[in-house]
Amino acid sequence: MNTKEMIKLYDEYVMNSYIRVPLSIVKGKGVTVWDAEGKEYMDFFPGWAVSGLGHCHPAVVDFVKKQAEVILHVSNNYYHNWQAELAKKIVDNSFKGKVFFSNSGAEANECAIKAARKYGKGKRYEIITTLRSFHGRTMACIAATGQDKVKIGFEPMLEGFKYVEFNDIDALKKAVSDKTVAFMFEVIQGEGGINIADQAYLAGVKQLCKERDILLIIDEVQTGMGRTGKMFAYQNFDIDPDIMSLAKSLGGGLPIGATVAKNKIADLMVPGTHGSTFGGSPIVCAAALGVFEAIEKGDLLKKTREMGKYLVKKLYGLKKDFPFIKEVRGIGLMVGVELSIEGDAIYKKCMEKGLLINCTQKNVLRILPPMIITEKDIDSAIKIINDVMKEIKP
Ligand code: PLP
Repeated sequence: MNTKEMIKLYDEYVMNSYIRVPLSIVKGKGVTVWDAEGKEYMDFFPGWAVSGLGHCHPAVVDFVKKQAEVILHVSNNYYHNWQAELAKKIVDNSFKGKVFFSNSGAEANECAIKAARKYGKGKRYEIITTLRSFHGRTMACIAATGQDKVKIGFEPMLEGFKYVEFNDIDALKKAVSDKTVAFMFEVIQGEGGINIADQAYLAGVKQLCKERDILLIIDEVQTGMGRTGKMFAYQNFDIDPDIMSLAKSLGGGLPIGATVAKNKIADLMVPGTHGSTFGGSPIVCAAALGVFEAIEKGDLLKKTREMGKYLVKKLYGLKKDFPFIKEVRGIGLMVGVELSIEGDAIYKKCMEKGLLINCTQKNVLRILPPMIITEKDIDSAIKIINDVMKEIKP
């Protein structure tokens, strides 16, 4: 099937809920993907941050292949070693607590929201989140998300959410009430435009949450699993979550969600309070264990920090020729280029020239290459971005 034929079938049979570009992807290996016509692309935004190790990483493929011949699914009224091992691995790499497994980032946040409400014991249920946040597309998650665009047409919203400016401790202090049970946020807003929390703000958040017994829910769905050069982005700062949500690159390409909560919260989620038929199945847990192995054996956290610095330096270097670049910001391989013009034409032209990146909030190029990239890959990508910027120079 060629791309045109695929698009025709999508138009007829698939709900049109996504903004899609006319590109099909039929194969991926490492940094490279191929379309149905055989054209090659460098993927610097692999699967909205899902393929953090690049496409079809051998460690993940190997774990999945082996597991596929043993058993694919075990329901959650039984035990299996893969879920047990993965939960331990996540906790060993983050903080002492327990894990609930689901299938997506939104589900991981749903569990976080439910667990926080349990902790509030019916007296405190309010969750404060930040403007320009993104927490997923379920009804609770669009209510949690601090952007009106995701809510339009789906009102009335679930009650109990308040929104405050990101990086503004006074706004947070003002918003807290005797109903507040949690503050939920991303330490680097992804969809919101690669906005990085500053340490002074986080110190204030930490103190306030401690004083008022407010739970800190950190959404690591996009930032987690090494993307920032630490296993979890919060580890770049002096802050600890009470609850953390994970998804995307945890599964190495397979659908997974995970919610980690400190024991004082996790232990409230007793039998019957929450569940998921597919959550934590052997095959996805095996894939996730493959992801951890690949990061550890490949020393990928260190490489991510090094390549991240190189990428930011190279992007920064473009600034002198293209004054419409306002700012380059990022940690590790989670990088944003803020423009004073709209970025749509740039990312589309990059695609035509064989480089996949993203544009968010209309004017921030979002560049999240896989942790396996090399300086040579970055040089090739920068050349394409440079050529495109020359062409569109306003
Ligand atoms: N949280 C964050 C920070 C995200 O970036 C996303 C997706 O982009 C989600 C939650 C929702 O994840 P999913 O699409 O897997 O439900």
